[in-house]
Amino acid sequence: MQLTKLTTLLHKMEKLIFIVPCYNEEEVLESTYTKLDDLLCRLIAGKEIDKESKVCFVDDGSRDRTWSVIQDFCKKNNRVRGVKLSRNFGHQYALLAGLESQFGLFDVYVTVDADLQDDIGVVSEMLLRHREGASIVYGVRHDRTSDSVFKRQTAELFYRIMNKLGVKTILNHADFRLIDKNALAEFLKFREVNLFIRGIFPLIGFRTANVYYKRKERELGASKYPLKKMVSFAWEGITSFSVKPMRLVLLLGLITFLFSFLLIIWVSISYIKGLVIPGWFSIMIPIAVFGGIQMICLGIIGEYIGKMYSEIKARPRYIIELIENK
Ligand code: UDP
Ligand code: MG
Repeated sequence: MQLTKLTTLLHKMEKLIFIVPCYNEEEVLESTYTKLDDLLCRLIAGKEIDKESKVCFVDDGSRDRTWSVIQDFCKKNNRVRGVKLSRNFGHQYALLAGLESQFGLFDVYVTVDADLQDDIGVVSEMLLRHREGASIVYGVRHDRTSDSVFKRQTAELFYRIMNKLGVKTILNHADFRLIDKNALAEFLKFREVNLFIRGIFPLIGFRTANVYYKRKERELGASKYPLKKMVSFAWEGITSFSVKPMRLVLLLGLITFLFSFLLIIWVSISYIKGLVIPGWFSIMIPIAVFGGIQMICLGIIGEYIGKMYSEIKARPRYIIELIENK
């Protein structure tokens, strides 16, 4: 402990900023603001971070009072900064907007969800790992009992499939992490439109560390990741994007493929009963089976072509409308 204190004192104090994406979070913001600002003040008082450290709330095109609540915080507290996106771009893009808009202004960036389900009590430990040399410190959930059994199992299945398909992710790590300015500079060089942030950081390298915590339940408001969004997020992680018509082809292929099994049974029964002319059986089966397989393949290829299509267009990944307390 003494040694830790000493290294803290000897170390040049770094400027930290929390990046908090918010989408329709009016119910939780007040309590989140209080907790984050308390933590900030404690870390500043303990000389763990520079006194110019801040909290940045990114309003991802909320339809409720989220932005006016953020503006109120900005008015009464200059440790708070607000970034308003022009519409809802999604969690990953809100994080990117927050990080990129603050690039160059801070030494350390900590991203955390607005509902504070991730335990900000470990930020101090993250800072310690960072001072020991880690450029990226991952927050890893070691206990997910607060999530429903369904959410846990689908999430685990998701990690497993991802890893099988070669997308390296840190097990049980979402988007609660600390990164320093060097890691951020490298992260911002990944210009992809189809953004899956937690798949990018393991590609960056540098020294990393894990910090473990227990994920809490969401206290107020509802999850912005219902089953539909979760499934789609998982899919994006694998192919990085989607193009609906191509996906329909894939679905059609799957249905045809399954249907071919029924066809096989019917054709076989007809064949056994001797109701068919010679040659019919051997023609029918490949038509059904390969028809299905081909459509599945077409759908998957289409998925990647669709991805290239959106990458080539290189549309802006987010649009900032306003920044408070710049
Ligand atoms: N979020 C966002 N844009 C969206 C959806 C969500 O900025 O389109 C934010 C949301 O406000 C929260 C974080 O992303 O801060 C994670 O969402 P949530 O807590 O609802 O997801 P869960 O924890 O249920 O997976
Ligand atoms: Mg949450």
